[in-house]
Amino acid sequence: MPISDYLVTIGLEVHCQIKTATKMFCSCRAGFGYEPNTNVCPTCLGMPGALPVLNEYAIERTVLTGLMLGCSTPPVSKWDRKNYFYADMPKNYQTSQLDLPLCIGGEVPLYSWAFPPDCKVKAEGAVVRTVKLDHIHLEEDAAKLTHYGSYSLVDYNRGGTPLMEIVSAPDLTSPDETYAYLKSLQQILICGGISDADMEKGQMRCDVNVSLRPKGQKELGAKIEMKNINSMSAARRALIYEIARQAEELDMGIAQVQSTRRWDDDLGESIVMRTKENAHDYRYHTCPDLIPVHTAPYVEKMQQEMPELPDARQKRLMEQYGLPVADANALVADARLCAYFETAAAASKAPRKVANWLINTLPPVLAEKEVTIDDCPVTPVALAALVDVVEEGICSTNQAREVLAVMWEKPELAAVDAAASLGFKKADTGALEAVVEQVIADCPNEVARIREGNMKLINALTGQVMKRSNPKPNPKLVTELLMAKLGL
Ligand code: ZN
Ligand code: MN
Repeated sequence: MPISDYLVTIGLEVHCQIKTATKMFCSCRAGFGYEPNTNVCPTCLGMPGALPVLNEYAIERTVLTGLMLGCSTPPVSKWDRKNYFYADMPKNYQTSQLDLPLCIGGEVPLYSWAFPPDCKVKAEGAVVRTVKLDHIHLEEDAAKLTHYGSYSLVDYNRGGTPLMEIVSAPDLTSPDETYAYLKSLQQILICGGISDADMEKGQMRCDVNVSLRPKGQKELGAKIEMKNINSMSAARRALIYEIARQAEELDMGIAQVQSTRRWDDDLGESIVMRTKENAHDYRYHTCPDLIPVHTAPYVEKMQQEMPELPDARQKRLMEQYGLPVADANALVADARLCAYFETAAAASKAPRKVANWLINTLPPVLAEKEVTIDDCPVTPVALAALVDVVEEGICSTNQAREVLAVMWEKPELAAVDAAASLGFKKADTGALEAVVEQVIADCPNEVARIREGNMKLINALTGQVMKRSNPKPNPKLVTELLMAKLGL
């Protein structure tokens, strides 16, 4: 039967590194880029007798994430040991949370701008729908293993760093929704300052599980999990493949078995790794070394630190700066670009034009120079001044691109001076008017046809004026002057 006759149920487990200075249970430095195995101590190396000490900041950030996603926090939250034996975990257990995690319930909004670019979404507002969460718990990350031909190397720097696990209910129904879920969640995590949530850097990692059942069947089908998917588009691809694979097998009468598969994004297929694995396999038990957390003070403190969420920000951008919805969406989708915009807009007379520059003009330049918005040599205030230079008629938008190039090389130069260095000055209207009048006198045929309604020819006259003027005036201004002189 066609795939559309199956109900697809998807659940996600997202691991997210919390941006902290130190590890979860010791004072070793967190973060990467350090010489392997230099940020380690007896606690995060699992030496006998070494005791853990809680990182309160990581608890706060997890509670804040819960508040942003509408979770509730149990009055007491506790720690559990998840036992397993592997080289990335020297204690042979991961300190995690099983039945009393820091956050319970809640939901992730799917933002209309977070769906894949080729996917049409019909939505009234910013939030298309919300996806139910099961819970969010806090745990420690494992060490990083790198596998070579006949051996593997382990770096314990990452071992014991704070890791938040956001577990959804089986509430997603399509690969497109899954993509939007990850993107929306990422934006919320960035906006709360919880994490940079860069999937390429492994700061956000996702395990997806998916099951199919024929329409009309109540109980869920056997769930197939795919672990450590490292991009949103890979998650989407993996699900599209896996749904088709399961439907095909079900059609042939092959029952699915609960299992874990590995998604190979290069090959574009999933390969079975192991079958059946349940929570009881890990022999979870309460950690005797850590006392439970009384959460009330953290919740109270974090309520004061609630940031503006992306959907509220989108609404405000439209109201405060008069931005069209598409522009507001584009800015909200990129927190750093949005921050740059707000600083620039505050300094500009034309915030809508500033938005336009940031969405359309600047990104290709940044891409070409391989620079992120954070390292852009042209500051937000300088960019605002450049937009104002165009607004004042000193140069055209196209000419302003040349001015931007000058400002890029010489950031100390003010926009007006950079424009002047290219010969763009506020037009001497007296001299310009003389040229305009001369052109009108020299082109009687064109003028007659313009008067008959052939407005395209006005561009030809503008071109004539531009050719005869030095320094080059703003073409928009020239056209306006021509129209005025012709009484149009
Ligand atoms: Zn340590
Ligand atoms: Mn986990």
